[in-house]
Amino acid sequence: MKLLALIIALLALVPRISEGQVMGPQYLVQVGGLAMSCKANSGVQVAIYVDYSLDNIGVARTAPNGAPIIVLNPNVISRYSPIVKQWWFAHECAHHALGPWNNETNADCFGAKELVKFGILNNNSQLQSFVNELASLPGSLQSGHLPGYERAMRIASCALDFS
Ligand SMILES: [Zn+2]
Repeated sequence: MKLLALIIALLALVPRISEGQVMGPQYLVQVGGLAMSCKANSGVQVAIYVDYSLDNIGVARTAPNGAPIIVLNPNVISRYSPIVKQWWFAHECAHHALGPWNNETNADCFGAKELVKFGILNNNSQLQSFVNELASLPGSLQSGHLPGYERAMRIASCALDFS
């Protein structure tokens, strides 16, 4: 029974995650089993926060002090495959990394190229399943995004060159 008491005592130490609680910053996060970080166009390392009340996989924002940040909701992220999670992170990073070239289409493309660059996306059958999963994403998930299939095909075209 002593062990049970110890387990209960330890469980009480585990931080409770409540709605609306924002955690961070972190500069290196595990995304689908891969350690990922993000550098802004200015060269500044992007601060990453976790917010379980965020109505999205993740968003790129500017903090009140002007610092580039990414906010992620792990509960939403958990619905997707590792490659889509990693692509989404790279997409949000792109909003900070692209500087004057930042827009949704370029961020989509940047995300795909990053996956190829890091060897995460490296063959056509993998690209096909990635496209199929992306095509199932609702276009309204984030404002300014295309409906699933059209958007997925555009993203695939950015990743087609596996050189
Ligand atoms: Zn975006």
